[in-house]
Amino acid sequence: MRILFYDTQNYDKESFEKTKDKYPGLELEYLKSGLSAKTAPLAKGYDAVCAFVNSDVGSDTVKALQEVRVKLILMRCAGFNNVDLETAKKCGIEVRRVPGYSPEAVAEHAMALALTVNRHMHKAYNKVRENDFSLGGLMGFNFYGKTAGIIGTGKIGAAMARICYGFGMRVIAYDVCENETLKEFVTYVTLEELLSDSDLISLHCPLMDSTYHLINRETIAKMKDGVILVNTSRGGLVKTEDLVEGIRARKFFGVGLDVYEEETPNVFEDRSDEILEHSTTARLLSFQNVMITSHQGFFTDEALTAIANTTLQNAIDFENGTETLNLVKA
Ligand code: NAD
Repeated sequence: MRILFYDTQNYDKESFEKTKDKYPGLELEYLKSGLSAKTAPLAKGYDAVCAFVNSDVGSDTVKALQEVRVKLILMRCAGFNNVDLETAKKCGIEVRRVPGYSPEAVAEHAMALALTVNRHMHKAYNKVRENDFSLGGLMGFNFYGKTAGIIGTGKIGAAMARICYGFGMRVIAYDVCENETLKEFVTYVTLEELLSDSDLISLHCPLMDSTYHLINRETIAKMKDGVILVNTSRGGLVKTEDLVEGIRARKFFGVGLDVYEEETPNVFEDRSDEILEHSTTARLLSFQNVMITSHQGFFTDEALTAIANTTLQNAIDFENGTETLNLVKA
């Protein structure tokens, strides 16, 4: 089977090249350009394409893939909101994905953000480089003995709960569906209780109609003064305008964001030569107690290896006609 990769970064190529020998019979080629209706014809002569979260796999692209007889779209990510599944079904193209790779990768990044804003690592790094060995502005607080509030206790939330418990924190959680395996050390509470009791709040629920702008002026008002908020889930969970208002009102000790509402044009792009106008991201970055990273929670060697293995196994399963839970249906 011949697979053409789109939106390929060097690290994608490295992890797939490292893994491919375990899956004989697969031939992989890589393109840096994104998948779109314009670039889909390049897949002529390939059986499958491999795409990512930022690829355009809308109706026109899928139809263009059908024209060059592509039979399979391999998403090397969990999300598939950028794929027109109805059109894929009509065109007889299968879609397979990687539902989970390394929850610990994202949870460890969430804790890294929490620790960074708590102990001002971003400031300390720069100060010492400037021969400024003073401690002004660097005081944090112990996580030990404090309360961590986890919103969403699926795979990543559960990993974050375990990390917080390891720090000696009291762990409380809110989820619409409670995770029985965590109850030995996690107490489920209402959202209101979680907001008012937590010293650290970490978001791990998916973005849906019911969770859109879950963190807004009202919910921020219910939080403890001096709380740390971390979002590694999806930008739309937090209403940025209200977050900025809360930061200005000195509500937060710190805020760590791996995802934010405006991230789409930024994710994985080097825009250092540009002036970003009308940017709420720039406004967020102007606060010294805010740390933003660019959707890198998943970005560990283990996670990339897991993504490569599952994606190539999905290709083999397609060839063998094996249905697994990774098959995405319209
Ligand atoms: P998961 O499906 O295992 O868990 C999600 C949990 O959220 C479930 O327990 C679910 O019951 C709960 N939930 C649903 N609606 C809720 C609500 N209204 N209130 C509270 N909880 C609710 O998902 P996961 O693998 O743990 O991933 C969590 C999120 O992390 C994903 O949705 C994704 O947006 C994000 N993610 C980020 C990165 C990154 O690189 N930053 C990587 C992977 C995933």
